Amino acid sequence: MLPDQHMHTARCQHAHGQPREYAEHAVACGLDRITFTDHGPLGGFDPGNRMALAELPAYVDDVLEVADSFKDKLTVGLGIEIDWIPELADFNRRITEAADWDLVLGSVHFVGPADMREFIIRCDPSREPHILEAYWKHWVEAAESGLFQVMSHPDIYRRATRAPLPGEHELACRALDRARETGVAIECNTSLVRKGGGSFYPQDWLLEEVLKRDFLLSSAADAHRPHQVGADFDLLEGLQTSDERARFSWFRQRQALPA
Ligand SMILES: [Zn+2]
Ligand SMILES: [Zn+2]
Repeated sequence: MLPDQHMHTARCQHAHGQPREYAEHAVACGLDRITFTDHGPLGGFDPGNRMALAELPAYVDDVLEVADSFKDKLTVGLGIEIDWIPELADFNRRITEAADWDLVLGSVHFVGPADMREFIIRCDPSREPHILEAYWKHWVEAAESGLFQVMSHPDIYRRATRAPLPGEHELACRALDRARETGVAIECNTSLVRKGGGSFYPQDWLLEEVLKRDFLLSSAADAHRPHQVGADFDLLEGLQTSDERARFSWFRQRQALPA
């Protein structure tokens, strides 16, 4: 099976379960590789949805301990998901240097100027078109920052709406053209399926634009509960077998290996 390279634990305060429970579920559903990527600290911003900076060493220890105790049946990677916020680039760079991460995921959950930051999954870009432009601007900055190996859920705003969004195609394609130059990989994230989105992120036409540009891909369920590990991976495996452009990668020590 493809590896699941995006999952959270109770440490971020909005997911449930301990690392060991996620690993147990992974083994039960036949996975042989997973990577923990809990939400990293963000310089004191959004403290209720992530670990505090002081907890980072304990998070690393938890993951390494599970990696060791499951090593005969499961390879466990150490990763982290970091929110791109331009003013926090230096803080985030230090987080990327704070441990021997296998994978650093780049996400854009927040858009807008510093004093009126908006949480993208609470925004509906079909009603607030400025959100879409701000989102893709942040997204390409994140891709070009060099901090991340993978850009997570590239069209996360699709959680709020499936309506056509004027300008989306052009904004996304321009961002992909720039990101392609950086070598960053794109995540195929099945959490949208669980949220009733009808497909995984990226949505179909965006996936086609990604494949056309020959990006590497990463497979992810973005589990926030142990039973969600590997959820809906039949869709990703179907893509892998039906489209030879779909090159999924497994990240070790921030290097992409064929999955
Ligand atoms: Zn989360
Ligand atoms: Zn996540």
